[in-house]
Amino acid sequence: MKCSRCHEEAVIYYPQSRQALCAEHLKEYIERKVKRAIERFKMLKRGEKVLVAVSGGKDSLMLWEILVDMGYDTEGLYIDLGLGEYSKSSEEYSRGFAEERDLTLRIVRVKEDHGIDIVAAAKRLRRPTCSVCGTVKRYIMNREAVEAGRVLATGHNMDDEASTLLGNLLTWNGEQLLRASPSLPSTHPKLARRIKPLIYVSERESATYCFSHGIKYIIPECPYSEGARLSVVKEALSKIEDRSPGSLLNFVDGFYRKSEGILCRRNGGIKEGVELKPCPLCGYLTSSSGPCAFCRLKSLFSSGE
Ligand code: SF4
Ligand code: ZN
Ligand code: ZN
Repeated sequence: MKCSRCHEEAVIYYPQSRQALCAEHLKEYIERKVKRAIERFKMLKRGEKVLVAVSGGKDSLMLWEILVDMGYDTEGLYIDLGLGEYSKSSEEYSRGFAEERDLTLRIVRVKEDHGIDIVAAAKRLRRPTCSVCGTVKRYIMNREAVEAGRVLATGHNMDDEASTLLGNLLTWNGEQLLRASPSLPSTHPKLARRIKPLIYVSERESATYCFSHGIKYIIPECPYSEGARLSVVKEALSKIEDRSPGSLLNFVDGFYRKSEGILCRRNGGIKEGVELKPCPLCGYLTSSSGPCAFCRLKSLFSSGE
């Protein structure tokens, strides 16, 4: 099949518009979607620098390449979560990507740099591994972005966003829905601005982009993944998209357009009424009266409890 815009071989076909695109026109199309998201949600001001959180997966690596090609000043951030072979492999892909393009990649090691063993902490606290891991990732991403004076960009794509929104709707998780936003402003010097420039880009597009532009990425999922419910939602959404192409885009875009003014995104995604105070140990913000959740995790390993 030929590209609808030139005579090159097509790499992707869009049934809803009956258009086929070659690798270069797919790139142009994705860049337009990223630009639209950045402008629509006022994600970046002129001259702002970006810290791209990379996991070695297709979305984050593609996002980094696209932002570089669009002319943004970027650095990558890879967090070594200490999850065995999975973390080793993710790091290799992230490093390989940065080295090939001569880009700066910051690496933070959760065990070596902060003394936290995520899996052991989850067992000791009888919490799901993903919950402890999420706490650690959020803290490190924010802290690194604040220290680097950069806006934090993550590679959440449209499918991720749609399944998170629908998952939260199915359980009426009002708090999460109220805090959802592709662009959370910084409301405090210790809180980085957080953006998701890929919310209009589908998983199929990013996989095709990486394949056709020679980006090598990690394919196996994290062995601790506990996204069973979300996978069911994702599967259901993928069926809806197959039967009615364009539904996911309508859902995600519609959700944010229609809910504008209702959501508390002006508050940096923090629940109204929640007072944040500096953690007495690290100085980053917390809603708890003592040390923040990250410092409490650290203390599990330093006090010999
Ligand atoms: Fe962490 Fe869970 Fe993601 Fe694995 S699946 S990286 S444990 S949040
Ligand atoms: Zn073309
Ligand atoms: Zn702290």
